[in-house]
Amino acid sequence: MARIRLMPESLILKIAAGEIVDRPASAVKELIDNAVDAGADTVRVDVRDGGMKSLTVTDNGWGIARDDLPLAFASHATSKVRNLEDLAHLTTLGFRGEALASIAAVSRVEIQTRAQDDNVGSTLSIEYGRIVRESAAAAPAGTRISVLDLFSNVPARKKFVRSVRAEGGQIASVVWQYALARPSVHFVLSMDGRDVFESTGTGRLLDALAAVYGTTVAEQSIPVEAEKDGLRVEALISLPQLSRPNRSAIHIAVNGRPVNSRSVPFVLDEAYSGYLMVGRHPLAVLNLALPPAEVDPNIHPSKLEVRVTRDREINSLVFHAVSGALMDARPGATESMFLPAEVDLPNVGASPLPLGIESKADDGASPDLISETPALRVFGQSNRTFIVAEGPNGIYMIDQHAAHERILFDRLDAALDAHNVPVQPLLEPLSIPVSPGQMQSLEENGPLLASMGLALEPFGTDTCLLRSVPAISAGASPSELVGEVLSELETLPRADSARERALAAMACKAAVKAGMTLDLQEMREIVMQLERTPRPSTCPHGRPTMIHLSHMQLEREFGRR
Ligand code: ADP
Ligand code: MG
Repeated sequence: MARIRLMPESLILKIAAGEIVDRPASAVKELIDNAVDAGADTVRVDVRDGGMKSLTVTDNGWGIARDDLPLAFASHATSKVRNLEDLAHLTTLGFRGEALASIAAVSRVEIQTRAQDDNVGSTLSIEYGRIVRESAAAAPAGTRISVLDLFSNVPARKKFVRSVRAEGGQIASVVWQYALARPSVHFVLSMDGRDVFESTGTGRLLDALAAVYGTTVAEQSIPVEAEKDGLRVEALISLPQLSRPNRSAIHIAVNGRPVNSRSVPFVLDEAYSGYLMVGRHPLAVLNLALPPAEVDPNIHPSKLEVRVTRDREINSLVFHAVSGALMDARPGATESMFLPAEVDLPNVGASPLPLGIESKADDGASPDLISETPALRVFGQSNRTFIVAEGPNGIYMIDQHAAHERILFDRLDAALDAHNVPVQPLLEPLSIPVSPGQMQSLEENGPLLASMGLALEPFGTDTCLLRSVPAISAGASPSELVGEVLSELETLPRADSARERALAAMACKAAVKAGMTLDLQEMREIVMQLERTPRPSTCPHGRPTMIHLSHMQLEREFGRR
Protein backbone atom coordinates (compact mmCIF):
# COMPACT_ATOMS: atom_id res chain seq x y z
CA MET A 1 0.00 0.00 0.00
CA ALA A 2 1.34 3.46 -0.87
CA ARG A 3 2.31 5.67 2.05
CA ILE A 4 0.52 8.94 2.71
CA ARG A 5 2.72 11.97 2.07
CA LEU A 6 2.33 15.72 1.97
CA MET A 7 2.50 17.08 -1.55
CA PRO A 8 5.35 19.36 -2.52
CA GLU A 9 4.33 23.04 -2.65
CA SER A 10 4.73 23.22 -6.45
CA LEU A 11 2.28 20.35 -6.97
CA ILE A 12 -0.22 21.84 -4.54
CA LEU A 13 -0.16 25.04 -6.55
CA LYS A 14 -0.61 23.28 -9.87
CA ILE A 15 -3.57 21.31 -8.59
CA ALA A 16 -5.15 24.39 -7.06
CA ALA A 17 -4.52 26.30 -10.27
CA GLY A 18 -6.59 23.78 -12.20
CA GLU A 19 -9.64 24.78 -10.19
CA ILE A 20 -9.30 28.45 -11.04
CA VAL A 21 -7.74 28.53 -14.49
CA ASP A 22 -9.02 25.65 -16.52
CA ARG A 23 -8.76 27.42 -19.88
CA PRO A 24 -7.51 30.73 -21.33
CA ALA A 25 -10.90 32.38 -20.88
CA SER A 26 -10.83 31.81 -17.14
CA ALA A 27 -7.40 33.47 -16.91
CA VAL A 28 -8.83 36.43 -18.84
CA LYS A 29 -11.74 36.56 -16.44
CA GLU A 30 -9.47 36.66 -13.38
CA LEU A 31 -7.32 39.37 -14.91
CA ILE A 32 -10.35 41.50 -15.79
CA ASP A 33 -11.57 41.04 -12.20
CA ASN A 34 -8.26 42.45 -10.99
CA ALA A 35 -8.31 45.39 -13.41
CA VAL A 36 -11.86 46.33 -12.42
CA ASP A 37 -11.05 45.94 -8.72
CA ALA A 38 -8.14 48.35 -9.28
CA GLY A 39 -10.65 51.00 -10.32
CA ALA A 40 -9.74 50.91 -14.03
CA ASP A 41 -12.15 52.54 -16.44
CA THR A 42 -10.31 51.23 -19.48
CA VAL A 43 -9.42 47.57 -19.85
CA ARG A 44 -7.77 46.19 -22.93
CA VAL A 45 -7.50 42.47 -23.67
CA ASP A 46 -5.13 41.25 -26.39
CA VAL A 47 -5.00 37.57 -27.20
CA ARG A 48 -3.02 35.50 -29.65
CA ASP A 49 -3.97 32.00 -30.76
CA GLY A 50 -7.06 31.92 -28.61
CA GLY A 51 -5.00 32.96 -25.59
CA MET A 52 -2.80 29.85 -25.75
CA LYS A 53 0.19 31.73 -27.13
CA SER A 54 -0.43 34.90 -25.15
CA LEU A 55 -3.08 36.88 -23.40
CA THR A 56 -2.45 40.38 -22.14
CA VAL A 57 -4.71 42.54 -20.02
CA THR A 58 -3.86 46.24 -19.72
CA ASP A 59 -5.65 48.58 -17.35
CA ASN A 60 -5.44 52.14 -16.12
CA GLY A 61 -6.21 51.24 -12.51
CA TRP A 62 -4.24 52.18 -9.43
CA GLY A 63 -1.35 49.80 -10.09
CA ILE A 64 0.83 47.88 -7.65
CA ALA A 65 3.66 49.36 -5.58
CA ARG A 66 7.06 47.89 -6.40
CA ASP A 67 7.50 46.46 -2.90
CA ASP A 68 4.19 44.61 -3.13
CA LEU A 69 4.67 43.19 -6.57
CA PRO A 70 6.29 39.83 -5.73
CA LEU A 71 3.72 39.29 -3.00
CA ALA A 72 0.87 39.68 -5.47
CA PHE A 73 1.96 36.32 -6.92
CA ALA A 74 2.11 34.46 -3.63
CA SER A 75 -0.91 32.30 -3.00
CA HIS A 76 -3.45 33.62 -0.52
CA ALA A 77 -1.97 37.12 -0.84
CA THR A 78 -4.59 39.80 -1.33
CA SER A 79 -5.13 43.48 -0.67
CA LYS A 80 -8.91 43.03 -0.70
CA VAL A 81 -9.80 41.04 2.37
CA ARG A 82 -8.22 41.30 5.82
CA ASN A 83 -10.66 39.48 8.04
CA LEU A 84 -13.90 37.54 8.17
CA GLU A 85 -15.87 40.72 8.49
CA ASP A 86 -14.52 41.93 5.11
CA LEU A 87 -15.44 38.60 3.54
CA ALA A 88 -19.02 39.07 4.67
CA HIS A 89 -19.33 42.48 2.94
CA LEU A 90 -17.41 42.01 -0.28
CA THR A 91 -17.42 44.86 -2.74
CA THR A 92 -14.55 43.55 -4.87
CA LEU A 93 -14.67 40.85 -7.53
CA GLY A 94 -11.56 39.12 -6.15
CA PHE A 95 -11.05 38.00 -2.58
CA ARG A 96 -9.11 34.74 -2.45
CA GLY A 97 -5.69 36.02 -3.43
CA GLU A 98 -5.12 32.97 -5.58
CA ALA A 99 -5.58 34.00 -9.19
CA LEU A 100 -2.18 35.46 -9.93
CA ALA A 101 -0.42 32.63 -8.08
CA SER A 102 -2.46 30.05 -10.01
CA ILE A 103 -1.90 31.63 -13.39
CA ALA A 104 1.80 32.08 -12.73
CA ALA A 105 2.12 28.41 -11.72
CA VAL A 106 1.06 27.21 -15.17
CA SER A 107 2.57 29.79 -17.54
CA ARG A 108 5.19 32.46 -18.00
CA VAL A 109 4.01 35.85 -16.76
CA GLU A 110 5.33 39.31 -17.52
CA ILE A 111 3.89 42.15 -15.51
CA GLN A 112 4.55 45.85 -15.76
CA THR A 113 2.88 48.22 -13.37
CA ARG A 114 3.06 51.67 -11.84
CA ALA A 115 1.06 52.86 -8.87
CA GLN A 116 -0.77 56.13 -9.60
CA ASP A 117 1.33 58.11 -7.07
CA ASP A 118 4.72 56.64 -7.95
CA ASN A 119 7.11 58.18 -10.46
CA VAL A 120 8.71 54.93 -11.45
CA GLY A 121 7.05 51.64 -12.13
CA SER A 122 8.38 48.10 -12.02
CA THR A 123 8.40 44.87 -13.96
CA LEU A 124 8.51 41.27 -12.91
CA SER A 125 8.94 38.07 -14.87
CA ILE A 126 7.84 34.73 -13.53
CA GLU A 127 8.33 31.32 -15.12
CA TYR A 128 6.09 28.54 -13.89
CA GLY A 129 5.84 30.08 -10.44
CA ARG A 130 9.50 31.15 -10.07
CA ILE A 131 10.46 34.82 -10.14
CA VAL A 132 13.24 35.18 -12.70
CA ARG A 133 13.59 38.96 -13.06
CA GLU A 134 12.52 42.03 -11.15
CA SER A 135 13.42 45.63 -11.89
CA ALA A 136 12.35 49.23 -11.82
CA ALA A 137 10.96 50.39 -15.14
CA ALA A 138 9.29 53.31 -16.81
CA ALA A 139 5.60 52.43 -17.19
CA PRO A 140 2.28 54.20 -17.60
CA ALA A 141 0.10 54.32 -14.50
CA GLY A 142 -1.84 51.09 -14.23
CA THR A 143 -0.98 47.50 -14.91
CA ARG A 144 -0.21 45.34 -17.90
CA ILE A 145 0.03 41.64 -17.38
CA SER A 146 0.89 39.13 -20.07
CA VAL A 147 0.38 35.41 -19.75
CA LEU A 148 2.48 33.42 -22.21
CA ASP A 149 2.33 29.75 -23.18
CA LEU A 150 -0.45 28.92 -20.77
CA PHE A 151 -0.43 25.27 -19.58
CA SER A 152 2.85 24.55 -21.38
CA ASN A 153 4.00 22.81 -18.18
CA VAL A 154 0.71 20.95 -17.61
CA PRO A 155 0.28 18.58 -20.56
CA ALA A 156 -2.83 17.06 -19.01
CA ARG A 157 -4.55 20.44 -18.93
CA LYS A 158 -3.36 21.48 -22.34
CA LYS A 159 -5.09 18.46 -23.86
CA PHE A 160 -8.44 19.76 -22.69
CA VAL A 161 -8.09 23.11 -24.34
CA ARG A 162 -10.04 23.01 -27.57
CA SER A 163 -9.41 24.81 -30.85
CA VAL A 164 -8.02 28.32 -31.09
CA ARG A 165 -11.39 29.33 -32.44
CA ALA A 166 -13.36 27.86 -29.57
CA GLU A 167 -11.05 29.39 -26.96
CA GLY A 168 -11.20 32.75 -28.73
CA GLY A 169 -14.99 32.55 -28.67
CA GLN A 170 -14.97 31.83 -24.94
CA ILE A 171 -12.71 34.80 -24.32
CA ALA A 172 -14.95 37.09 -26.36
CA SER A 173 -17.96 35.99 -24.40
CA VAL A 174 -16.15 36.71 -21.12
CA VAL A 175 -15.35 40.23 -22.33
CA TRP A 176 -18.96 40.78 -23.45
CA GLN A 177 -20.24 39.65 -20.07
CA TYR A 178 -18.10 42.23 -18.34
CA ALA A 179 -19.00 44.95 -20.82
CA LEU A 180 -22.67 44.30 -19.96
CA ALA A 181 -22.09 43.98 -16.23
CA ARG A 182 -19.90 47.11 -16.10
CA PRO A 183 -21.19 49.64 -18.63
CA SER A 184 -18.96 52.38 -17.24
CA VAL A 185 -15.76 50.52 -18.12
CA HIS A 186 -14.40 50.89 -21.63
CA PHE A 187 -13.41 47.39 -22.80
CA VAL A 188 -11.39 46.61 -25.91
CA LEU A 189 -10.70 43.10 -27.16
CA SER A 190 -8.17 42.35 -29.85
CA MET A 191 -7.43 38.97 -31.35
CA ASP A 192 -4.25 38.27 -33.24
CA GLY A 193 -3.61 41.97 -33.67
CA ARG A 194 -7.09 42.99 -34.77
CA ASP A 195 -9.60 44.86 -32.58
CA VAL A 196 -12.72 42.72 -32.59
CA PHE A 197 -14.79 44.35 -29.88
CA GLU A 198 -15.07 47.63 -28.07
CA SER A 199 -17.58 48.95 -25.57
CA THR A 200 -18.14 52.65 -24.99
CA GLY A 201 -17.75 52.89 -21.23
CA THR A 202 -20.43 55.60 -21.11
CA GLY A 203 -22.14 53.95 -18.16
CA ARG A 204 -25.35 53.43 -20.15
CA LEU A 205 -26.53 49.85 -20.31
CA LEU A 206 -28.09 50.50 -23.71
CA ASP A 207 -24.70 51.46 -25.16
CA ALA A 208 -23.17 48.28 -23.75
CA LEU A 209 -25.97 46.20 -25.27
CA ALA A 210 -25.50 47.91 -28.64
CA ALA A 211 -21.76 47.19 -28.50
CA VAL A 212 -22.33 43.50 -27.84
CA TYR A 213 -25.44 42.74 -29.91
CA GLY A 214 -25.59 45.61 -32.39
CA THR A 215 -27.89 48.58 -32.70
CA THR A 216 -30.75 46.61 -34.26
CA VAL A 217 -31.09 44.52 -31.13
CA ALA A 218 -30.64 47.57 -28.90
CA GLU A 219 -33.48 49.32 -30.72
CA GLN A 220 -35.77 46.37 -30.10
CA SER A 221 -35.16 46.25 -26.38
CA ILE A 222 -37.05 47.82 -23.53
CA PRO A 223 -35.60 49.20 -20.32
CA VAL A 224 -36.67 47.76 -16.99
CA GLU A 225 -35.92 49.35 -13.67
CA ALA A 226 -37.26 48.40 -10.28
CA GLU A 227 -36.31 48.67 -6.68
CA LYS A 228 -37.71 47.14 -3.54
CA ASP A 229 -36.40 46.84 0.00
CA GLY A 230 -32.80 47.48 -0.97
CA LEU A 231 -32.91 45.18 -4.01
CA ARG A 232 -32.46 46.92 -7.32
CA VAL A 233 -32.70 45.66 -10.87
CA GLU A 234 -31.70 47.47 -14.03
CA ALA A 235 -32.30 45.55 -17.21
CA LEU A 236 -32.83 45.64 -20.92
CA ILE A 237 -35.13 42.99 -22.30
CA SER A 238 -36.07 42.16 -25.85
CA LEU A 239 -39.42 42.95 -27.41
CA PRO A 240 -41.30 39.72 -28.13
CA GLN A 241 -40.50 40.00 -31.83
CA LEU A 242 -36.91 39.17 -30.94
CA SER A 243 -36.18 35.79 -29.41
CA ARG A 244 -33.66 33.00 -29.24
CA PRO A 245 -33.95 29.21 -29.35
CA ASN A 246 -31.87 28.97 -26.13
CA ARG A 247 -31.04 31.00 -23.05
CA SER A 248 -27.55 32.01 -24.13
CA ALA A 249 -28.52 35.66 -24.61
CA ILE A 250 -29.60 36.06 -21.01
CA HIS A 251 -26.88 37.88 -19.08
CA ILE A 252 -27.08 38.32 -15.35
CA ALA A 253 -24.77 40.24 -13.08
CA VAL A 254 -24.89 40.71 -9.33
CA ASN A 255 -23.19 43.86 -8.06
CA GLY A 256 -21.18 44.11 -11.27
CA ARG A 257 -20.12 40.46 -11.24
CA PRO A 258 -21.31 38.36 -14.19
CA VAL A 259 -22.88 35.19 -12.79
CA ASN A 260 -24.73 32.11 -13.91
CA SER A 261 -28.14 31.96 -12.35
CA ARG A 262 -30.33 28.89 -12.25
CA SER A 263 -33.56 30.61 -11.41
CA VAL A 264 -33.57 34.01 -13.09
CA PRO A 265 -33.66 32.68 -16.69
CA PHE A 266 -36.73 30.64 -15.75
CA VAL A 267 -38.34 33.65 -14.15
CA LEU A 268 -37.78 35.53 -17.42
CA ASP A 269 -39.31 32.67 -19.40
CA GLU A 270 -42.35 32.84 -17.15
CA ALA A 271 -42.69 36.57 -17.63
CA TYR A 272 -42.50 36.06 -21.40
CA SER A 273 -44.94 33.16 -21.48
CA GLY A 274 -47.79 34.19 -23.70
CA TYR A 275 -45.49 36.51 -25.64
CA LEU A 276 -43.12 33.93 -27.05
CA MET A 277 -43.65 30.55 -28.59
CA VAL A 278 -42.75 27.55 -26.49
CA GLY A 279 -39.04 26.84 -26.82
CA ARG A 280 -38.14 30.46 -27.56
CA HIS A 281 -36.35 32.64 -25.03
CA PRO A 282 -35.78 36.37 -24.70
CA LEU A 283 -32.56 38.33 -24.88
CA ALA A 284 -31.94 40.08 -21.62
CA VAL A 285 -29.26 41.87 -19.68
CA LEU A 286 -30.14 41.97 -16.05
CA ASN A 287 -27.97 43.81 -13.57
CA LEU A 288 -28.90 43.31 -9.95
CA ALA A 289 -27.66 45.56 -7.17
CA LEU A 290 -27.99 43.92 -3.76
CA PRO A 291 -26.59 44.78 -0.33
CA PRO A 292 -23.07 43.24 -0.33
CA ALA A 293 -23.78 41.47 2.96
CA GLU A 294 -26.55 39.50 1.22
CA VAL A 295 -24.30 38.10 -1.51
CA ASP A 296 -21.85 35.26 -1.00
CA PRO A 297 -19.58 34.69 -4.01
CA ASN A 298 -17.47 32.23 -2.06
CA ILE A 299 -19.40 29.13 -3.09
CA HIS A 300 -17.91 28.43 -6.50
CA PRO A 301 -14.26 27.84 -7.49
CA SER A 302 -14.35 30.38 -10.29
CA LYS A 303 -16.94 32.64 -8.65
CA LEU A 304 -19.44 31.97 -11.43
CA GLU A 305 -22.27 31.49 -9.00
CA VAL A 306 -23.23 33.45 -5.93
CA ARG A 307 -25.53 32.68 -3.06
CA VAL A 308 -28.03 35.40 -2.23
CA THR A 309 -30.08 35.71 0.90
CA ARG A 310 -33.38 36.86 -0.55
CA ASP A 311 -33.62 34.83 -3.74
CA ARG A 312 -37.42 34.58 -3.71
CA GLU A 313 -37.82 38.34 -3.33
CA ILE A 314 -35.36 38.88 -6.15
CA ASN A 315 -37.20 36.46 -8.44
CA SER A 316 -40.47 38.13 -7.69
CA LEU A 317 -39.05 41.63 -8.23
CA VAL A 318 -37.62 40.55 -11.59
CA PHE A 319 -40.83 38.79 -12.60
CA HIS A 320 -43.05 41.76 -11.86
CA ALA A 321 -40.69 44.33 -13.34
CA VAL A 322 -40.30 42.35 -16.56
CA SER A 323 -43.99 41.48 -16.94
CA GLY A 324 -44.89 45.11 -16.28
CA ALA A 325 -42.46 46.37 -18.90
CA LEU A 326 -43.77 43.84 -21.42
CA MET A 327 -47.33 44.88 -20.69
CA ASP A 328 -46.46 48.54 -21.26
CA ALA A 329 -44.75 47.69 -24.52
CA ARG A 330 -47.63 45.63 -25.91
CA PRO A 331 -49.09 46.53 -29.29
CA GLY A 332 -51.80 48.85 -28.02
CA ALA A 333 -49.22 50.85 -26.12
CA THR A 334 -46.50 51.15 -28.72
CA GLU A 335 -48.05 49.88 -31.85
CA SER A 336 -45.36 51.10 -34.21
CA MET A 337 -42.70 49.08 -32.44
CA PHE A 338 -44.58 45.88 -33.09
CA LEU A 339 -45.75 46.39 -36.62
CA PRO A 340 -42.89 45.34 -38.84
CA ALA A 341 -42.30 47.92 -41.54
CA GLU A 342 -42.19 45.19 -44.12
CA VAL A 343 -43.29 41.68 -43.33
CA ASP A 344 -41.49 39.38 -45.66
CA LEU A 345 -40.84 36.30 -43.62
CA PRO A 346 -43.44 34.00 -42.19
CA ASN A 347 -43.39 35.95 -38.96
CA VAL A 348 -45.18 33.27 -37.06
CA GLY A 349 -46.16 34.38 -33.64
CA ALA A 350 -44.37 37.67 -33.96
CA SER A 351 -46.52 39.47 -36.47
CA PRO A 352 -49.52 41.03 -34.79
CA LEU A 353 -52.90 41.47 -36.31
CA PRO A 354 -53.18 44.74 -38.17
CA LEU A 355 -54.92 46.50 -35.36
CA GLY A 356 -57.47 48.58 -37.13
CA ILE A 357 -58.87 49.30 -33.73
CA GLU A 358 -57.15 50.58 -30.68
CA SER A 359 -56.46 48.06 -28.01
CA LYS A 360 -57.91 49.47 -24.85
CA ALA A 361 -57.59 46.58 -22.51
CA ASP A 362 -56.75 48.61 -19.45
CA ASP A 363 -58.64 51.86 -19.59
CA GLY A 364 -61.96 50.35 -18.75
CA ALA A 365 -63.56 51.18 -22.10
CA SER A 366 -66.28 48.67 -22.76
CA PRO A 367 -65.79 46.52 -25.83
CA ASP A 368 -68.94 48.01 -27.35
CA LEU A 369 -67.20 51.32 -27.81
CA ILE A 370 -64.71 49.75 -30.13
CA SER A 371 -65.34 49.95 -33.85
CA GLU A 372 -67.43 47.06 -35.10
CA THR A 373 -65.53 46.77 -38.35
CA PRO A 374 -62.78 44.25 -37.90
CA ALA A 375 -59.47 44.82 -39.61
CA LEU A 376 -59.71 41.29 -40.96
CA ARG A 377 -62.31 40.04 -43.42
CA VAL A 378 -63.11 36.39 -42.79
CA PHE A 379 -63.39 34.19 -45.89
CA GLY A 380 -64.12 30.87 -44.32
CA GLN A 381 -62.87 27.85 -42.48
CA SER A 382 -60.28 25.33 -43.56
CA ASN A 383 -60.28 21.74 -42.32
CA ARG A 384 -62.71 22.82 -39.57
CA THR A 385 -59.63 24.08 -37.72
CA PHE A 386 -58.35 27.26 -39.30
CA ILE A 387 -60.06 30.55 -39.95
CA VAL A 388 -58.90 32.13 -43.21
CA ALA A 389 -59.07 35.89 -43.46
CA GLU A 390 -57.74 38.83 -45.40
CA GLY A 391 -56.23 41.95 -43.87
CA PRO A 392 -54.65 45.12 -45.17
CA ASN A 393 -51.33 43.36 -45.69
CA GLY A 394 -52.10 39.86 -46.82
CA ILE A 395 -53.74 36.65 -45.75
CA TYR A 396 -54.11 35.42 -42.19
CA MET A 397 -54.69 31.87 -41.10
CA ILE A 398 -55.92 31.67 -37.54
CA ASP A 399 -56.01 28.59 -35.36
CA GLN A 400 -59.56 28.70 -34.02
CA HIS A 401 -58.77 26.86 -30.81
CA ALA A 402 -55.60 28.81 -29.98
CA ALA A 403 -57.31 32.12 -30.76
CA HIS A 404 -60.33 31.33 -28.63
CA GLU A 405 -58.07 30.18 -25.81
CA ARG A 406 -56.27 33.51 -25.86
CA ILE A 407 -59.58 35.39 -25.76
CA LEU A 408 -60.99 33.36 -22.88
CA PHE A 409 -57.74 33.50 -20.96
CA ASP A 410 -57.63 37.29 -21.10
CA ARG A 411 -61.30 37.57 -20.19
CA LEU A 412 -60.88 35.28 -17.16
CA ASP A 413 -57.70 37.06 -16.19
CA ALA A 414 -59.41 40.46 -16.22
CA ALA A 415 -62.42 39.13 -14.31
CA LEU A 416 -60.14 37.63 -11.70
CA ASP A 417 -58.31 40.93 -11.32
CA ALA A 418 -61.65 42.60 -10.72
CA HIS A 419 -62.65 39.81 -8.24
CA ASN A 420 -65.64 39.31 -10.45
CA VAL A 421 -65.48 35.92 -12.13
CA PRO A 422 -68.94 34.85 -13.29
CA VAL A 423 -69.69 31.53 -11.63
CA GLN A 424 -71.97 28.66 -12.57
CA PRO A 425 -72.99 26.73 -9.41
CA LEU A 426 -73.83 23.02 -9.83
CA LEU A 427 -77.24 21.85 -8.72
CA GLU A 428 -75.62 19.09 -6.74
CA PRO A 429 -71.95 18.70 -5.87
CA LEU A 430 -70.22 16.38 -8.31
CA SER A 431 -67.71 13.88 -6.95
CA ILE A 432 -64.61 13.49 -9.10
CA PRO A 433 -61.81 10.94 -8.58
CA VAL A 434 -58.32 12.47 -8.24
CA SER A 435 -54.77 11.13 -8.11
CA PRO A 436 -52.53 11.74 -5.08
CA GLY A 437 -50.61 14.40 -7.05
CA GLN A 438 -53.82 16.13 -8.06
CA MET A 439 -55.02 16.00 -4.46
CA GLN A 440 -51.87 17.73 -3.35
CA SER A 441 -52.24 20.47 -5.92
CA LEU A 442 -55.82 20.94 -4.76
CA GLU A 443 -54.66 21.28 -1.16
CA GLU A 444 -52.11 23.88 -2.19
CA ASN A 445 -54.32 25.84 -4.55
CA GLY A 446 -57.88 25.41 -3.31
CA PRO A 447 -58.49 29.09 -2.44
CA LEU A 448 -56.95 30.27 -5.71
CA LEU A 449 -59.19 27.94 -7.71
CA ALA A 450 -62.24 29.01 -5.72
CA SER A 451 -61.49 32.64 -6.60
CA MET A 452 -61.58 31.56 -10.24
CA GLY A 453 -65.01 30.01 -9.78
CA LEU A 454 -63.78 26.43 -9.48
CA ALA A 455 -65.05 25.50 -6.02
CA LEU A 456 -63.50 22.17 -5.11
CA GLU A 457 -63.01 20.44 -1.82
CA PRO A 458 -61.18 17.26 -0.87
CA PHE A 459 -63.50 14.39 -0.05
CA GLY A 460 -61.62 11.49 1.45
CA THR A 461 -58.21 10.72 0.04
CA ASP A 462 -58.93 10.11 -3.62
CA THR A 463 -62.04 12.10 -4.43
CA CYS A 464 -63.02 15.73 -4.50
CA LEU A 465 -66.35 17.51 -4.59
CA LEU A 466 -67.01 20.12 -7.25
CA ARG A 467 -69.58 22.78 -6.35
CA SER A 468 -69.19 25.35 -9.08
CA VAL A 469 -67.33 26.08 -12.29
CA PRO A 470 -66.44 29.38 -13.96
CA ALA A 471 -69.38 30.36 -16.19
CA ILE A 472 -67.02 30.42 -19.13
CA SER A 473 -66.42 26.67 -18.73
CA ALA A 474 -70.09 25.75 -18.27
CA GLY A 475 -70.06 23.90 -21.60
CA ALA A 476 -67.01 21.78 -20.82
CA SER A 477 -67.03 18.40 -19.12
CA PRO A 478 -66.58 19.21 -15.40
CA SER A 479 -64.43 16.17 -14.61
CA GLU A 480 -62.14 16.87 -17.57
CA LEU A 481 -61.86 20.49 -16.51
CA VAL A 482 -60.94 19.57 -12.94
CA GLY A 483 -58.48 16.90 -14.07
CA GLU A 484 -56.79 19.28 -16.47
CA VAL A 485 -56.49 22.15 -14.01
CA LEU A 486 -55.20 20.02 -11.13
CA SER A 487 -52.67 18.25 -13.34
CA GLU A 488 -51.45 21.58 -14.67
CA LEU A 489 -50.72 22.64 -11.11
CA GLU A 490 -48.87 19.48 -10.11
CA THR A 491 -45.46 20.53 -11.38
CA LEU A 492 -44.85 24.21 -11.03
CA PRO A 493 -41.53 25.98 -11.48
CA ARG A 494 -42.66 28.83 -9.26
CA ALA A 495 -45.55 29.15 -6.83
CA ASP A 496 -46.81 32.39 -8.35
CA SER A 497 -47.25 30.83 -11.77
CA ALA A 498 -50.22 28.82 -10.44
CA ARG A 499 -52.70 31.49 -11.44
CA GLU A 500 -51.42 31.67 -15.00
CA ARG A 501 -51.40 27.88 -15.37
CA ALA A 502 -54.86 27.40 -13.96
CA LEU A 503 -56.31 30.12 -16.16
CA ALA A 504 -54.66 28.61 -19.21
CA ALA A 505 -56.08 25.19 -18.40
CA MET A 506 -59.59 26.61 -17.94
CA ALA A 507 -59.36 28.60 -21.15
CA CYS A 508 -58.17 25.52 -22.99
CA LYS A 509 -61.06 23.36 -21.80
CA ALA A 510 -63.64 26.06 -22.58
CA ALA A 511 -62.36 27.06 -26.03
CA VAL A 512 -63.79 25.80 -29.31
CA LYS A 513 -61.93 22.72 -30.46
CA ALA A 514 -60.23 21.93 -33.71
CA GLY A 515 -62.68 19.95 -35.83
CA MET A 516 -65.69 22.06 -34.87
CA THR A 517 -67.60 23.63 -37.71
CA LEU A 518 -68.02 27.38 -37.20
CA ASP A 519 -70.28 29.67 -39.17
CA LEU A 520 -69.10 33.00 -40.56
CA GLN A 521 -70.61 34.94 -37.70
CA GLU A 522 -68.85 32.81 -35.09
CA MET A 523 -65.55 33.16 -36.88
CA ARG A 524 -65.94 36.94 -37.19
CA GLU A 525 -66.65 37.09 -33.50
CA ILE A 526 -63.45 35.19 -32.67
CA VAL A 527 -61.36 37.35 -34.97
CA MET A 528 -62.83 40.56 -33.64
CA GLN A 529 -62.28 39.57 -30.03
CA LEU A 530 -58.79 38.38 -30.75
CA GLU A 531 -57.97 41.79 -32.17
CA ARG A 532 -58.86 43.32 -28.85
CA THR A 533 -56.56 41.22 -26.72
CA PRO A 534 -53.21 42.70 -25.82
CA ARG A 535 -51.28 39.61 -26.92
CA PRO A 536 -53.14 38.39 -30.00
CA SER A 537 -50.34 36.45 -31.65
CA THR A 538 -49.85 33.66 -29.12
CA CYS A 539 -52.13 31.40 -27.13
CA PRO A 540 -51.65 31.13 -23.34
CA HIS A 541 -49.35 28.14 -23.89
CA GLY A 542 -47.13 30.19 -26.16
CA ARG A 543 -48.13 28.62 -29.45
CA PRO A 544 -48.93 30.94 -32.34
CA THR A 545 -52.57 31.83 -32.90
CA MET A 546 -52.02 32.81 -36.49
CA ILE A 547 -49.84 32.66 -39.54
CA HIS A 548 -49.51 35.66 -41.79
CA LEU A 549 -48.69 35.56 -45.49
CA SER A 550 -47.91 39.06 -46.70
CA HIS A 551 -48.80 40.29 -50.15
CA MET A 552 -45.11 40.46 -50.83
CA GLN A 553 -44.65 36.81 -49.93
CA LEU A 554 -47.58 35.83 -52.10
CA GLU A 555 -46.18 37.81 -55.00
CA ARG A 556 -42.82 36.21 -54.51
CA GLU A 557 -44.35 32.74 -54.41
CA PHE A 558 -46.16 33.44 -57.67
CA GLY A 559 -42.98 34.68 -59.31
CA ARG A 560 -44.24 38.24 -59.60
CA ARG A 561 -41.16 39.59 -57.83
P1 ADP B 1 -7.33 38.74 -5.41
O1 ADP B 1 -7.86 39.44 -6.61
O2 ADP B 1 -8.26 37.70 -4.92
O3 ADP B 1 -6.89 39.67 -4.34
P2 ADP B 1 -5.15 37.98 -7.13
O4 ADP B 1 -4.18 36.86 -7.07
O5 ADP B 1 -6.00 38.08 -8.33
O6 ADP B 1 -6.04 37.91 -5.84
O7 ADP B 1 -4.35 39.33 -6.98
C1 ADP B 1 -3.52 39.53 -5.84
C2 ADP B 1 -3.36 40.99 -5.53
O8 ADP B 1 -2.60 41.64 -6.54
C3 ADP B 1 -4.66 41.76 -5.49
O9 ADP B 1 -5.25 41.69 -4.20
C4 ADP B 1 -4.21 43.17 -5.83
O10 ADP B 1 -3.75 43.85 -4.69
C5 ADP B 1 -3.03 42.96 -6.73
N1 ADP B 1 -3.40 43.12 -8.15
C6 ADP B 1 -3.58 42.12 -9.04
N2 ADP B 1 -3.89 42.62 -10.26
C7 ADP B 1 -3.90 43.96 -10.14
C8 ADP B 1 -4.16 45.06 -11.05
N3 ADP B 1 -4.47 44.84 -12.34
N4 ADP B 1 -4.08 46.31 -10.56
C9 ADP B 1 -3.76 46.54 -9.25
N5 ADP B 1 -3.53 45.55 -8.35
C10 ADP B 1 -3.59 44.28 -8.79
MG1 MG C 1 -8.09 38.55 -8.45
